[in-house]
Amino acid sequence: MTNWLARGAPHVWRPYCQMKTAPAPLAVARTAGARIILEDGRELVDGIASWWTACHGYNHPHIARAVSEQLARAPHVMFGGLAHAPAYELASRLAALLPGDLDHVFFAESGSVSVEIAMKMAIQFWINRGVQGRNRFVSFLGGYHGDTLATMTICDPDEGMHSLFSGVMPSQHVTALPRDSASEEALDALLGEKRHEIAALIVEPRIQGAGGMLIHEDEVLRRLRVLADRHDVLLIFDEIFTGFGRTGDLFACQGAGVTPDIITLSKALTGGTLPLSAAVARRRIFEAFWSDDAGAALMHGPTYMANPLACAAAGASLDLFEAGAWKTDVARIEAALRSGLEPCRQAAGVVDVRTLGAIGVVEFEAPVDAGALCQRFAELGCWIRPMGKVVYLTPPFVTTDAELGQLTGAIRKVLGVAEAQG
Ligand SMILES: *Cc1c(COP(=O)(O)O)cnc(C)c1O
Repeated sequence: MTNWLARGAPHVWRPYCQMKTAPAPLAVARTAGARIILEDGRELVDGIASWWTACHGYNHPHIARAVSEQLARAPHVMFGGLAHAPAYELASRLAALLPGDLDHVFFAESGSVSVEIAMKMAIQFWINRGVQGRNRFVSFLGGYHGDTLATMTICDPDEGMHSLFSGVMPSQHVTALPRDSASEEALDALLGEKRHEIAALIVEPRIQGAGGMLIHEDEVLRRLRVLADRHDVLLIFDEIFTGFGRTGDLFACQGAGVTPDIITLSKALTGGTLPLSAAVARRRIFEAFWSDDAGAALMHGPTYMANPLACAAAGASLDLFEAGAWKTDVARIEAALRSGLEPCRQAAGVVDVRTLGAIGVVEFEAPVDAGALCQRFAELGCWIRPMGKVVYLTPPFVTTDAELGQLTGAIRKVLGVAEAQG
């Protein structure tokens, strides 16, 4: 064990981890492109892009330069009463890229907090308009929106990570996505009955990520927009996972042709460089807060809100998106994941293989032994961290064809299935 790992291990509390039985974490020395280089010299191709953040690969020189220039100018200033170019420019660029009048950007530092802010915006929207009692949410089975207390209430209640805390916070209406006419009618009925207590619907558009990489048709999102309008409740899209190209469109909402009332962004926002998130609202939402009454303001302001380094990284990441190579890369990755993972259908215990944009998923009938699999993938030179019943790949967009072959080959090898054909 490296010295720093041995010294720190008794003191660091690790995420999502039974530390008594889990193997030691792998010690990382540095990163480059789509690779993680370990202290012992091994190189792992990263199939996860560090929880879906490092969309342009690690250490991208354009992002690194933007951050280091900003570091020399001003690493941080408080956002209360002060303004800086990286945040103001980023807000105007996000407003221009997002569909419709999603024009009002509230920055925070993590995805969960941006979801909490979206929830506060939705509740206070109704209060500011003089409507009482609209403080509940409708969310969907299979959904994941964060680990903080309020966001846990809108996650799938069977989510292993959160079920211990049921009863701590008021419960929400977590129901089936309107995938067919029966579930659409059920949601319509729920909204008809409960609309007077509901502030908003919240959904991860196109694919529910941490809840199991569950894909749905864009039609589901169009139905949600229709139902939200019919019952006059707000619609929030949590694009923390799907935003910034992952599903093949810059934003899933734009690809689906549906404009939500509020959208949350994080994960790939800074290209995986620094923590940053945003809740972006449409004009009608913002206008409910625009008043001569100080009490109508949104009372929120994280200490590191709109951190200039993070905003500079996000601006540089947007430059790379504007350059456009991501789009062909995502299509290239989708094709490689599809052909590379398809043979896994034959493996024992596999119930589905699916791809969407730069996301490839092998689903098993029962939860997998994530720790053991993770170790075997690492022995094959890959960083792949299964989750629940799925082994999945969400590689950086710069992953080469050879590296993609290594990732899908490792999964096939561990599942004991033959080479992909053609
Ligand atoms: C990761 C994620 C979150 C939580 O983001 P954190 O930065 O981990 O707090 C919320 N919603 C979705 C869809 C996510 O994928």
